[in-house]
Amino acid sequence: MAESVELPSRLGILPFRNKVLLPGAIIRIRCTSPSSVKLVEQELWQREEKGLIGILPVRDAAETMAVGPMLYPGAGADLGEQSSKHQVGTSDTHKFDGKNQQEVIHWHTRGVAARALHLSRGVEKPSGRVTYVVVLEGLCRFSVQELSTRGTYYTARIAPLDMTKAEMELVEQDPEFLTLSRHFKTTAMELISVLEQKQKTGGRTKVLLETVGVPKLADIFVASFEISFEEQLSMLDSVDVKVRLSKATELVDRHLQSIRVAEKITQKVEGQLSKSQKEFLLRQQMRAIKEELGDNDDDEDDVAVLERKMQNAGMPPNIWKTAQRELRRLKKMQPQQPGYNSSRVYLELLADLPWQTASEESELDLKAAKDSLDHDHYGLVKVKQRIIEYLAVRKLKPDARGPILCFVGPPGVGKTSLASSIATALGRKFVRISLGGVKDEADIRGHRRTYIGSMPGRLIDGLKRVAVCNPVMLLDEIDKTGSDVRGDPASALLEVLDPEQNKTFNDHYLNVPYDLSKVIFVATANRMQPIPPPLLDRMEVIELPGYTPEEKLRIATRHLIPRVLDQHGLSSDFLHIPKAMVKLVIQSYTREAGVRNLERNLAALARAAAVRVAEQEHAMPLGKEVHQLASPLLESRVADGAEVEMEVIPMDVNNHEISNTFRVTSPFIVDEAMLEKVLGSPRYDDRETAERVATPGISIGLVWTAFGGDVQFVEVTAMVGKGDLHLTGQLGDVIKESAQIALTWVRARATELKLAAAEESNLLEGRDVHIHFPAGAVPKDGPSAGVTLVTALVSLFSQRRARADTAMTGEMTLRGLVLPVGGIKDKVLAAHRYGIKRVILPERNLKDLVEVPAAVLASLEILPAKRMEDVLEHAFEGGCPWRQHSKL
Ligand code: ADP
Repeated sequence: MAESVELPSRLGILPFRNKVLLPGAIIRIRCTSPSSVKLVEQELWQREEKGLIGILPVRDAAETMAVGPMLYPGAGADLGEQSSKHQVGTSDTHKFDGKNQQEVIHWHTRGVAARALHLSRGVEKPSGRVTYVVVLEGLCRFSVQELSTRGTYYTARIAPLDMTKAEMELVEQDPEFLTLSRHFKTTAMELISVLEQKQKTGGRTKVLLETVGVPKLADIFVASFEISFEEQLSMLDSVDVKVRLSKATELVDRHLQSIRVAEKITQKVEGQLSKSQKEFLLRQQMRAIKEELGDNDDDEDDVAVLERKMQNAGMPPNIWKTAQRELRRLKKMQPQQPGYNSSRVYLELLADLPWQTASEESELDLKAAKDSLDHDHYGLVKVKQRIIEYLAVRKLKPDARGPILCFVGPPGVGKTSLASSIATALGRKFVRISLGGVKDEADIRGHRRTYIGSMPGRLIDGLKRVAVCNPVMLLDEIDKTGSDVRGDPASALLEVLDPEQNKTFNDHYLNVPYDLSKVIFVATANRMQPIPPPLLDRMEVIELPGYTPEEKLRIATRHLIPRVLDQHGLSSDFLHIPKAMVKLVIQSYTREAGVRNLERNLAALARAAAVRVAEQEHAMPLGKEVHQLASPLLESRVADGAEVEMEVIPMDVNNHEISNTFRVTSPFIVDEAMLEKVLGSPRYDDRETAERVATPGISIGLVWTAFGGDVQFVEVTAMVGKGDLHLTGQLGDVIKESAQIALTWVRARATELKLAAAEESNLLEGRDVHIHFPAGAVPKDGPSAGVTLVTALVSLFSQRRARADTAMTGEMTLRGLVLPVGGIKDKVLAAHRYGIKRVILPERNLKDLVEVPAAVLASLEILPAKRMEDVLEHAFEGGCPWRQHSKL
């Protein structure tokens, strides 16, 4: 311990770079530079008595901006005395930094005298250089009066700074000093207790507190902390004991707080760690206990179950390798760890995918397949024939790369159910993948597993659901995929449908190739147009145009009604829907190309009837003969002529039993009143067209939509204006141009058509024309409304009504030629549905009529048109109105 020392007036100086040795601190240094070696040798090693040296802090040149008294060569010491001028010697500079030989050394003006507690000398090999290791103890502060060199090292004339004994005694009386020292001691004590708790030591430090004077204690404490150079300097400069004490108290307190915060953090981390470790240990123990008890069978380790599942999945070797790698990763993880779940879900998918599992393909019986197709579907002769051909090829050459069938037609015409019949005929499972609205390539190909919430694409998901690798997969609504910034699903589908590429289909989530070549793909679409040509190229299109009312009636009576009754637990003895009523539903409630709404309406009737029966039955006395027929469910309860209580029927009782249970004397017969009550008032009316064409300026067009053919009215009116044309009804560019052409054509022939007198040949003089396509919410486009537009305009300007029983379609050129258009079959069927009697078609479209069922054609008068004049001739009662003079 440092006691009060007699300082000599001159001391050899050892500079400390950016470091301070405080009184009471002990430090071990190694001296290797020639100047420090010389200093140690002369001032410490060779002296008989214990020598002292001065430790003086020096500051890096870069840091001299910092405040604090410094000794600059050539400047006076802090006492204002002249110091000798120095040009720093080469060796000294090397001693500190070896950077710039001319670098100026910034000496601090105060230092600490130190004595060597231990000295050892060594010789470096092979250079033979002498080095010293010195353990130094700081003793007391001094100030530098003058700095000079002695040989290679510095010496300084110094003056002691510490108080004398008498001065000290005086200070100790000072109440402020007493308070400060008490405060310091308390803080120091606290620090010691904290350290004691942590390291279970501190007994010696406590003794220090009792025996050493407080000013020295302050130095000793501060010297043991890691504080900045600035703080060290400021502590060294605190010659005044009161200042020193308050600074030291502050530093001790800060150190104490930082230890406490660190402790809190460690506790928290330790707490968390130990919680998960504890859980892990407990689980291990639990497993061991269960094993010991022999009852771990049913609660087997999930991962082990997963592993077994993976082993049985029949993965190809390369995929098995990937799966095992992932499994090893999973085993190393704890369930709480992020990534555990995603890894597990991935492995579950690998284990669940049907790598080899296939449905046994039975020997294909073409006759049975044909019967099954006939049994499930009415009509569709050509379509069924094509399907049978397709199946025949498969029978002869099972691995033939046959075309992919694509059923195109409006909704509800049986596309899905035909595809499912193909699966039944082949004895394969059926899975439907809906592609409607798929815009993201990842929907087909999956998201990479790096994304949160990533999942496989719809194909892989479908295969997982169906659990066989050779299903019939229906790509439903393939025309409804679109591309945007998220990629092009169509290009991914191209890969799927290409037999060359789909052997190694790469789903991004799966990240291993999957063989799709055993899957039989069938696609459906409402329209062919939106399917990208390369995709269309891979498929064979089979069109299903929609049904005539007669066909619908037969489909309803043979297929839909029996199915609906069965689904509702009813039978024909119970509910009877007469043909006339089915016709009424077809005519007045559903004007669709397919039969989906028809089926829905029939189901509504069946539901309503079921409710009625249940209600009636509740209070209906049963006759004797009925009792005998009744189900065993009732037998125990029904006495002769007794009233029957409602019976609770178990869910799995078969349908006939239910009908029997509620057997009534005569079946319910659906009548018009019931239709109105259940389905509401009729939605369509044959008189509708006549009513809508009641005024001049309206014509009936035939259009083609995703739902099949349809009737589209065109309304035209004129009002006072400046000759502008207004168009409304969500029209596309092509249809807008058609309207322009139509108006131009009519204006050009105004006199010829007798729509205006020769002297007022401008039809738009002082008038605006407004053309509207009703059903304004539905977007419309295409050129086929040309002839309809002209007819409406002529009707308006001639003030003659167009015929209400005549609909038309056709594109018109500016010169009045009528050009052929598409979708004739659907359009004619639509006209028939709407009760239209006459259809005007472009002459070149007549060849398309072969596709229209004969029954429909027989009920219609088809009127071919080559030029616009032909259309007008047919569209008005008594021929074209040009024979009449305009009254407008
Ligand atoms: P899509 O796939 O064309 O939209 P669906 O195949 O779903 O139509 O057919 C709708 C309903 O109509 C199904 O219940 C189906 O069995 C029935 N259906 C359609 N066409 C026929 C038909 N020709 N014969 C018997 N039922 C049919």
